[in-house]
Amino acid sequence: MSFNLSSRLAERRAAHLYRQRPLLESPQGVRVVVDGQPLLAFCNNDYLGLASHPAVIEAFAEGARRWGVGGGASHLVVGHSQPHHELEEALAEFTGRPRALLMSSGYMANLGAVTALAGQGDTVLEDRLNHASLLDAGLLSGARFSRYLHNDMNSLASRLDKSQGNTLVITDGVFSMDGDLAELPGVCATAAERGAWVMVDDAHGFGCLGNNGGGIVEHFGLSVEQVPVLIGTLGKAFGTAGAFVAGSEELIETLIQFARPYIYTTSQPPAVACATLRSLQLLQGEHWRRERLAQLIAQFRIGVADIGLELMNSPTPIQPILVGSSERAMALSAALREQGILVTAIRPPTVPRGTARLRVTLSAAHTENDVNQLLDALKRAVAQLPVTQSSEAHDA
Ligand SMILES: *Cc1c(COP(=O)(O)O)cnc(C)c1O
Repeated sequence: MSFNLSSRLAERRAAHLYRQRPLLESPQGVRVVVDGQPLLAFCNNDYLGLASHPAVIEAFAEGARRWGVGGGASHLVVGHSQPHHELEEALAEFTGRPRALLMSSGYMANLGAVTALAGQGDTVLEDRLNHASLLDAGLLSGARFSRYLHNDMNSLASRLDKSQGNTLVITDGVFSMDGDLAELPGVCATAAERGAWVMVDDAHGFGCLGNNGGGIVEHFGLSVEQVPVLIGTLGKAFGTAGAFVAGSEELIETLIQFARPYIYTTSQPPAVACATLRSLQLLQGEHWRRERLAQLIAQFRIGVADIGLELMNSPTPIQPILVGSSERAMALSAALREQGILVTAIRPPTVPRGTARLRVTLSAAHTENDVNQLLDALKRAVAQLPVTQSSEAHDA
């Protein structure tokens, strides 16, 4: 029998789940051109406005002139260059961990860390709302794998009581589709009572949380003993590309020996590491970026509550508006777009059925006026929506 792709695609379309890639025709930022249309955007993860920052661009260009363009080999062969090494040292200092290991992407950092640590006979426990890369990593590891209810310590504890072998408890720091924080002190205490290790993927916390942008572990003041495996990504608030694992000397050496997604891939271009070193300085030093974000988040939440839309419990730049059905989310997104505003609808399977949403993200590069424009457009978009039957809200 051969693969019937056309019927799979037709089903996807009929379920309002068909995905298309908008074509970005400008640099990443708050004002973009997408498919020929200039738009005010509220959907990238460039929370601090560093992806197109002139100083970061200059560091990248200078890095390319000095170090060339390609990594040229894997780290263990001859691809581990001086900028990679310097960045690892800077990230270790930034996170207050003995060492850090630079990886090519967050997806690979998660696959690498989980599969190097846990295997057959071990247990991996994950928050139900963890990022897809963590779920894939748990499945690929071959360990017993189960998911606990979101931020629910009783659910975690009962799974820990049934766990076998070495146990790794994994949570997002900031949940990527909801914007809420992990109950990390509770997760750490619950895990520690039963001798399990905690791994946190703080892709959305670094740069945004903590006085110095040190993410959720800085926010809660958690040590390397409490969170032995800490993952950060560099494509979000850092504005560049790649990811890192931070932890003990032994953890990093273990990953260098055993993490296949680290060993069998070409190192990232050294110039990217040069750019990230520069953005790390901006991220740590320029407190106004986090202060601006906090003001915009407060302004947005008050405005959305006035319109009567449902927000999620998020203190971060990820401010999703819960809509319900995929169809309704798509209609709202389209109505905003007609008004020159880009906000993406997030649908199942990225989020649970019946919880399609507009994932609004704010950036330090937005102004108060930008947020007012978004709020006005939202008000008009809601007024245009056809009245829906309540049953439809939980359909897709
Ligand atoms: C974006 C994201 C990743 C993947 O990181 P990339 O560097 O984009 O591959 C991993 N975990 C979480 C929680 C993310 O949001």
